Amino acid sequence: MFYQQDFDVIVIGGGHAGTEAAMASARMGASTLLLTHSIETLGQMSCNPAIGGIGKGHLVKEIDALGGVMAKAIDLAGIQFRTLNSSKGPAVRATRAQADRTLYRTAVRNMLENQENLTLFQQSCDDLIIENERVTGVVTQMGLKFRAKTVVLTVGTFLGGTIHIGLENYKGGRAGDPPSIALADKLRAMPFRVDRLKTGTPARLDARTLDFSVMQKQAGDTPLPVFSFMGNVEQHPEQIPCYITHTNEQTHDIIRSGLDRSPMYTGVIEGVGPRYCPSIEDKITRFADKNSHQIFVEPEGLNSVEVYPNGISTSLPFDVQMALVRSIKGFENAHIIRPGYAIEYDFFDPRDLKQTLETKFVKGLFFAGQINGTTGYEEAGAQGLIAGANAALQVQQKDALSLGRDQAYMGVLIDDLATMGTKEPYRMFTSRAEYRLLLREDNADLRLTEIGRSIGLVDDERWAAFEAKIEQVEREKQRLASTWIHPGHVAADDINHLLKTPISKEHSLEELIRRPELNYETLMKVAQLGPGLDDLKAAEQVEIQIKYAGYIARQLEDIAKSQRHENALIPIDFDYSKISGLSNEVVAKLSDARPETLGKASRISGITPAAISLLLVYLKKHD
Ligand code: FAD
Repeated sequence: MFYQQDFDVIVIGGGHAGTEAAMASARMGASTLLLTHSIETLGQMSCNPAIGGIGKGHLVKEIDALGGVMAKAIDLAGIQFRTLNSSKGPAVRATRAQADRTLYRTAVRNMLENQENLTLFQQSCDDLIIENERVTGVVTQMGLKFRAKTVVLTVGTFLGGTIHIGLENYKGGRAGDPPSIALADKLRAMPFRVDRLKTGTPARLDARTLDFSVMQKQAGDTPLPVFSFMGNVEQHPEQIPCYITHTNEQTHDIIRSGLDRSPMYTGVIEGVGPRYCPSIEDKITRFADKNSHQIFVEPEGLNSVEVYPNGISTSLPFDVQMALVRSIKGFENAHIIRPGYAIEYDFFDPRDLKQTLETKFVKGLFFAGQINGTTGYEEAGAQGLIAGANAALQVQQKDALSLGRDQAYMGVLIDDLATMGTKEPYRMFTSRAEYRLLLREDNADLRLTEIGRSIGLVDDERWAAFEAKIEQVEREKQRLASTWIHPGHVAADDINHLLKTPISKEHSLEELIRRPELNYETLMKVAQLGPGLDDLKAAEQVEIQIKYAGYIARQLEDIAKSQRHENALIPIDFDYSKISGLSNEVVAKLSDARPETLGKASRISGITPAAISLLLVYLKKHD
């Protein structure tokens, strides 16, 4: 039976990719259906209760700049906020917040339920309807069919999911949720390249059985950071501390003694795990010389006794988990509420995707999130937003949204995946971006909000706030550039107190802010010069734009140089063997990856600049 209403976009899966995808397409005016296993688990955090961090925080700010959900939800659900790398340059500063899981889910669900053009439906999706190489709908577990012009698949770790605890294993999508077996089988019959990855999570502990007095307390930052460009501190719930403890030699001995029953070390798990979020058994094996590893003891919520011991993810048997947990300082009497486990799942080779996240083999079908080989809520959310927007744009017959590596971490993420693929769960780092100085958290709105507005992702309220901010920043920068201080100026003495070398000739305030010992805030405290902007975000922008102007200009020049040929198109069915001078290895790699542009071809590992020049010459000659 077909459902009575047809949709423009169907999003399958209500995790982090799915909620951003569904909200994006609905914001853009496309009639959207979000089909998910359970309405209760919309926006559920499968693993650590935290959003942001280095590289990840940048993605969250970008999602927010495009009108997305994640930053707004964490502002309503964050119980500890910090700015990481706060003493370093603005490019690598990153916001991170500990979340109350329940508040986070509630915030996401509220936004979904109040979004125009969005319909929610609870059922498992078991099949896709494909006609003439184009997706035209989906089939649910109870046989109900939905028609749609485009479909975004965001089913996370659920495809063929197998949960491992020691040598025991069973089918599951994550603890407490069913796997997607029927859908996985259907997808495996399609021409996509599929492989297995693995991820894991620690045991959850009962706070009432822990001794926090012997652990190190870690409070959040003051002033409290805010995630959304539209947010404010008053939205944050009560703030509570986290704690730190450590593993020790005894813990490591217990783990080593359990390795013969570890699914990872006995070959039961074949999928590759996340390099940057390894299990504790991985850590003590890989870093055998270290006799202690740090554990962040993170509360799961304001009204929950559950605690997340971040750093001891494990799939060891339960008796080993008990012993290892109880060997840790402060955990001697710990009760485990939920055992730790690992999960193995199917993922698709992201090289089978276009830059828009549409699959190369089935028109109108988009993939986003963990199924593309990534790990993390933020990476999933970023892809979800881009896939949802592109699904809507395709229906509206408008140009696709594709962000460059110089525009956004989202661009870096998707370009890395679609060009190079991944052999292990991919997570974002600032080091993955070559134009870090431009892609800062603080300017995500300046980079992206106008783009979002032009395709309908950004609402009137955000747009008005954005325009007001830009105007303030520009007006203030002009004032600073045109206010001159000379040695006899009334403010000169006050300024000289702040400087290493006193003013000896005329300087604009803009020039003075560039001096390392001065900043905007201090200068504005000098009588006659201030008070300056009271909007702290606008003030921060003025300072960064002035202080880093030279570096930013240089990075823009680099981009212009490399972009001259970046977007030169390569036909999808191009026969690389026709180019004389290319090695067999290069021909094989290019034929395998099928890059859409010369820029993408140049980033495939093993593709030399010489090979790129040959390709460029050939393409120009045969244009
Ligand atoms: P998910 O959040 O998994 O959402 C998938 C959604 O799809 C769910 O709502 C599900 O119910 C729904 N769904 C699935 N199949 C169907 C179907 N057939 N029909 C309808 N709905 C369906 N990330 C880290 O950054 N670090 C970690 O250490 C880490 N460890 C993890 C450990 C475990 C055990 C798990 C499960 C995840 C872990 N993650 C970790 C990953 C993090 O949870 C994911 O990256 C993130 O949730 C992915 O978002 P997603 O939207 O792609 O998928």
